[in-house]
Amino acid sequence: MNIEIFQGLNLSLLVNLAYILASIMFIFGLKMLGSPETATKGNLTSASGMLLAVIITLLDQNILSFQYIAIGILIGSLIGYFAATLVKMTSMPEMVALFNGFGGIASLLVGSSEFISGSDMSSFLSFAIYLTVLIGGVTFTGSLIAYGKLSETISGKPYLYKGQQIVNSLLLLSLVLVGLEMIALGLSNLSNVELLILICSLAFILGVLFVIPIGGADMPVVIALLNSFSGLAACAAGFVILNNVLIVSGALVGASGLILTNIMCKAMNRSLANVLFSGFGAVSDVSSSKSEDQGEVKPINIQDAFLILEAASSVLIVPGYGMAVAQAQHSVRELGELLEKNGTEVQYAIHPVAGRMPGHMNVLLAEANVSYDVLVEPEDVNPTMETVDVCMVIGANDVVNPDAKENEGSPIYGMPIIEVDRAKTVFVLKRSMASGFAGIQNPLFFKSNSRMLFGDAKDSVSNLVSEFKD
Ligand code: NDP
Repeated sequence: MNIEIFQGLNLSLLVNLAYILASIMFIFGLKMLGSPETATKGNLTSASGMLLAVIITLLDQNILSFQYIAIGILIGSLIGYFAATLVKMTSMPEMVALFNGFGGIASLLVGSSEFISGSDMSSFLSFAIYLTVLIGGVTFTGSLIAYGKLSETISGKPYLYKGQQIVNSLLLLSLVLVGLEMIALGLSNLSNVELLILICSLAFILGVLFVIPIGGADMPVVIALLNSFSGLAACAAGFVILNNVLIVSGALVGASGLILTNIMCKAMNRSLANVLFSGFGAVSDVSSSKSEDQGEVKPINIQDAFLILEAASSVLIVPGYGMAVAQAQHSVRELGELLEKNGTEVQYAIHPVAGRMPGHMNVLLAEANVSYDVLVEPEDVNPTMETVDVCMVIGANDVVNPDAKENEGSPIYGMPIIEVDRAKTVFVLKRSMASGFAGIQNPLFFKSNSRMLFGDAKDSVSNLVSEFKD
């Protein structure tokens, strides 16, 4: 008997040691993700930590059927494999949004199954199940709407309606009341399942209503917040099934998502409350009408652009979502190298919300082997913008829109931008006069120092590369 207790203690000690090791691997992995040089190793370290945690959990817990787990792994791996290989690089942001949602629904299912399995519940357990289901449900439907907006199957415009705040307040009040009811009940089983269905339904509705009013330019904040929610839901699920590694990994995702949300809010110069409750991003009449009478745009051809670039002593490259669409990053790196060979100082200015997911431009430029040393942030480069000979805006639009500092009526007024309009010459590489994700016109295109280089960004940059090589 004593030997059995001793063996039991030893096993639980081993399991906890393995969980601590897995948690340490997550933390070091996260730290390594902070720099492009160590990011691949960081990814591998965190993934290995997760593999260790999964294996230990499967061995430790009283798993009823390894058959079902094997079937689940097979189906999940197949879906994951096809999703990862079939998805276009340009669709990665919406896939990341969808994966956040899957994290949320997984936690909701864990919480629900614990509730349905039926037992006396402590107030703490009821509260943990309630939070798991609530946050998981909001994350799931919120992420589906974010997916729709990013893939442009749903309009990026904010949906605002009369009485919106009242509807949201009533919904929140209902959720608090059913939560209290769940905690007071202290019992969970199939006969109380209506309560669970009610909480799930309210959480699903809240997820939709929470993301649908958020307008184009504000989506980065929402994406980061949903990412944090998926971690918090997993953390709450960890408390439900008393699994330490789930608590730690969920808390890490939750905390890093909150830090990212804060960075995104700073990048937009807005508070979180302002983003969530003001319907920012709506196209106001003031901004649209102002930009219609801005004058003529001045197109430029490849040969003339080449001659100006050849004579430039400093070039600032400002990439945006269009570079991702065109997959122009490798040609951009090649052009940067040719310019440097020609004696030009080349830098890349990255706006935190450029592209469609946090770090989007950094990932693309790292993939193309652009050195980390030549990447600069808007606050580094804005003070000396007048000294830059040529700014090459490659598929960026909202993040260089001067309305953000000049037009109080603009929905992006107050957002810090890369102030390319103050450079000596600006080349804007895009296919048409179409607006960016925020859906607003850009007065930059009409400025006297701007030249429009129309066409697909990869074609335009490749043609410039050919000119330099010739
Ligand atoms: P924008 O979305 O403002 O503009 C992208 C521009 O790229 C468009 O004007 C488009 O013009 C051009 N473009 C598209 N395809 C090509 C192509 N093949 N070749 C050349 N140009 C092309 O991009 P920004 O990066 O400036 O701004 C990002 C926006 O997305 C911000 O509003 C941000 O708030 C939002 N957002 C960001 C997220 C993030 O986490 N970073 C998440 C969600 C939203 P045209 O069609 O004429 O070529």
